[in-house]
Amino acid sequence: MKWKCPYCSHAQVVTQQNFSHKQVGFDTIEADVGHLGIDAVAIVCVNPDCGKAAINLSVCTAYKDHYGQVCLRSEPDKLLSRRLMPDHSAHPQPDYIPAPLVEDYIEACKIKDLSPKASATLARRCLQGMIRDFCGISKPTLFKEIEALKKLLDESNAPKGVSADSVEAIDHIRQIGNIGAHMEKDINVIIDVDPEEAQVLIELIETLFEEWYVARHKREERFARVKTIADEKAAQKLVSQ
Ligand SMILES: [Zn+2]
Repeated sequence: MKWKCPYCSHAQVVTQQNFSHKQVGFDTIEADVGHLGIDAVAIVCVNPDCGKAAINLSVCTAYKDHYGQVCLRSEPDKLLSRRLMPDHSAHPQPDYIPAPLVEDYIEACKIKDLSPKASATLARRCLQGMIRDFCGISKPTLFKEIEALKKLLDESNAPKGVSADSVEAIDHIRQIGNIGAHMEKDINVIIDVDPEEAQVLIELIETLFEEWYVARHKREERFARVKTIADEKAAQKLVSQ
């Protein structure tokens, strides 16, 4: 099985050495939903610089076998699933992305399932923070900021790296259920959303981190390399003269 470490993003193959799957049935009397058990999976990252453990836990329905043992089926019905370690699905982000944006993003990922409302509120704040920081646009509402960004793009004045695609993606959010309906309001107003809507916002933020900040950083690094080479050549010329 192929697996990507949620801590370091290292892609690897899961083997018997770094993977374990355990099931335990509770030998209580039947609960209202029947017998119950725990299904747990642990994977340890083989990257020597990481070595962290990822652990997922599920509460499942179980049954009593003819010896009276409470057992779980190989693919049991899961009543509740939790990512214990790491406790969120946030992707690792580079340190050149402003810390408050990354903090809002991680927090939005952490609470997505428990509280989509709170998650979407943080994600909208993160999105607004990005438009303010990366694009230098600051308006009273996110709606007006997106409008302003679209205008910049139409006039070919948008910051480098802000593509029509990314602005279109932001604009799509405006058409999504409650998030869209409340774009005109202050971003701190808490709105009702479902986990899928919250997830769409989180994915948008991941895309924009990549297309805006990571791409800009790579571009700067490339240019810095070109400049170093040019400087070296110029120095060599001076020496040889
Ligand atoms: Zn790892």
